[in-house]
Amino acid sequence: MVAILGGGIAGLTAAFELEQQGIDFELFEASDHIGGKIRSERIDGFIIEHGPNSLHSSSALLQRVIQTCELEEHQLFAHEDAKKRYVVRNSIPRALPTSPPALLSSDYFSWSTKLRLAREPFIAKFEGNNEESVAQFIRRRLGQHVLDYAVDPFVTGIFAGNPESLSLRHAFPSLFEMEQQEGSLLRGLLTRKKESNGSSGRPIFSFQEGVQMLSDAIANRFRDHIHTNKSVISIAPSGKRWRVETAEDERVESHNFDAVISTIPLPQLAEVSLKVDLDLAPFNKVSYPPVTVVTMGFEASAIAHPLDGFGMLVPLKEKSKRILGTIFASSVFPSHAPEGCVQLTTLIGGTRQPDMSRLTDDLLEYFVLDDLHELLGIYGDPILVQYNHWKTAIPQYNVGYGVVKALINNLEALHAGLFFAGNYRQGISVSDAMESGYNAAVRTAKLLR
Ligand SMILES: Cc1cc2nc3c(=O)[nH]c(=O)nc-3n(C[C@H](O)[C@H](O)[C@H](O)COP(=O)(O)OP(=O)(O)OC[C@H]3O[C@@H](n4cnc5c(N)ncnc54)[C@H](O)[C@@H]3O)c2cc1C
Repeated sequence: MVAILGGGIAGLTAAFELEQQGIDFELFEASDHIGGKIRSERIDGFIIEHGPNSLHSSSALLQRVIQTCELEEHQLFAHEDAKKRYVVRNSIPRALPTSPPALLSSDYFSWSTKLRLAREPFIAKFEGNNEESVAQFIRRRLGQHVLDYAVDPFVTGIFAGNPESLSLRHAFPSLFEMEQQEGSLLRGLLTRKKESNGSSGRPIFSFQEGVQMLSDAIANRFRDHIHTNKSVISIAPSGKRWRVETAEDERVESHNFDAVISTIPLPQLAEVSLKVDLDLAPFNKVSYPPVTVVTMGFEASAIAHPLDGFGMLVPLKEKSKRILGTIFASSVFPSHAPEGCVQLTTLIGGTRQPDMSRLTDDLLEYFVLDDLHELLGIYGDPILVQYNHWKTAIPQYNVGYGVVKALINNLEALHAGLFFAGNYRQGISVSDAMESGYNAAVRTAKLLR
């Protein structure tokens, strides 16, 4: 019998795989919600995403889960017209060129930046032993301007983090490998394009009722084995087995298991008594900045901007703005807003301005509307406003993250039957968290057979 700790997508995927392999498990979740950061809600005809808003379909595991859970008919692919990515410059959203010919013909970058880009294949690859930050890497290969107006906003959009702190090797391993293997990003991108037969690859999708349809469908396979409102308070070896203590209000229960898969995020794991033979201090140093998601619904006629894209990102250079970026949610998935209405999902806080995410809802509404008014030409009040405050949103794979990964590997190597998974392990996307849960289940199954 296996204990799975945490009912986010990593824990659910671990449970899914154990179920497939015929191994018994019980899953303990501290809250009354299954899905962790995945949280979708239908309000007044809007499908609101408080956490992840979309997925990429390149993961074979994700495809297998979707098929097994018979979710294909509910899949919703991003609208064709939602491909443009806007980046704010001098308070104006500008569409980022999406292909080399578009880059050459557009005035998004100056000619000196375009010439700098043309030099990229001739720049020597990084040979040092230390970890480079994302900013150091981009500055070296593509120059400051590309860092400021292309990479910084995307890093903010993915990690809500800072490219000066994030480790290239751990946060963006595919870019690191591209340089190491091909010696150039441009060559690496061309090779990948050839390998994928020119297709742009990773269609973006969600589900009719939002991303939570995925976590709900997985959980529905084994509801009887999921225990909500049971917070894990201690994990300790007990002979060759593991004792897990859970608390529900004042009631503490203790259970013994052959193996434990913990998917508890590191800030919450720090509060659990974990009896192991290694110093867990590196876990406490991992930064998880807060992020607040502000969802607003408007009459379409209240917005001057055509919202003809996926969304708009705000670079650090745009000092006067308070928001990190806005997803044009109903342009990506038109059925996520009622007829004649639009939905905008704005992120605020992150590493850049953690204090902004802790403001009262009234102040948040004021600042978000103020920025949106200037950037998108919004006139009139929203017809819907929803907030979700994530106190510890996304783990930052900062320079030095190798120490954290090594600690996880050592913990597993030294303690038979103790496994770890979650978005702090092999990537922060939903599909990365799923892969980590799957891998932990496979290692568990191998041990128990
Ligand atoms: C605002 C936001 C937007 C995002 N957008 C996207 C996106 O568009 N696409 C994408 O791919 N990814 C996105 N992500 C990232 C992705 O959603 C997460 O990385 C992923 O869902 C994390 O899954 P997880 O299972 O590792 O952790 P979590 O979802 O955090 O699950 C951990 C679970 O453990 C539980 N827990 C905590 N302590 C205990 C305890 N003591 N005992 C028992 N249970 C406990 C928690 O309650 C939680 O349910 C986004 C994240 C955020 C915050």
